[in-house]
Amino acid sequence: MAVREVRLFGDPVLVSRADEVVDFDESLSTLIVDMFDTMEDAGGVGLAANQVGVLRRVFVFDTSHQEGGLRGHVINPVWEPLTEDTQTGKEGCLSIPDVSAETTRYETVRLSGQDRDGNPVGFVANGLLARCIQHETDHLDGVLFLKRLDPAERKAAMGVIRASAWFNK
Ligand code: ZN
Repeated sequence: MAVREVRLFGDPVLVSRADEVVDFDESLSTLIVDMFDTMEDAGGVGLAANQVGVLRRVFVFDTSHQEGGLRGHVINPVWEPLTEDTQTGKEGCLSIPDVSAETTRYETVRLSGQDRDGNPVGFVANGLLARCIQHETDHLDGVLFLKRLDPAERKAAMGVIRASAWFNK
């Protein structure tokens, strides 16, 4: 088990775009295993490679605590909404401790990408898993969920961040 350090808000790696994976090598498999360990250790439902300081387009997810939930990984993810329906609910981020805010996302998305061997994968997700897919793909584009908040929610979240012990270390 190798839990890696989770990078926190303020770290430039979180606002950098991750690169497409072209080498499906041993280091990719190790990264995925470590990301699962790190996500589980932190109690998250998703983790993007940027959050452990790696700029490769990979994320892991685990919503298996929910009925119909899934656990897995995806490389070079691409998603599209299947309908215009949205969901609004509390969202948080392992890289922004103590902050959660009402965030609007698409309700149902189709995800496609590759597995660790480079084989194509894809599925349709809704609810929490759809939210997770949108949140983690944003990370790979260097976008934090704060950017998805309305201005009042963002201002409140920034206030919590500025007052946090972790941010003032
Ligand atoms: Zn996050």
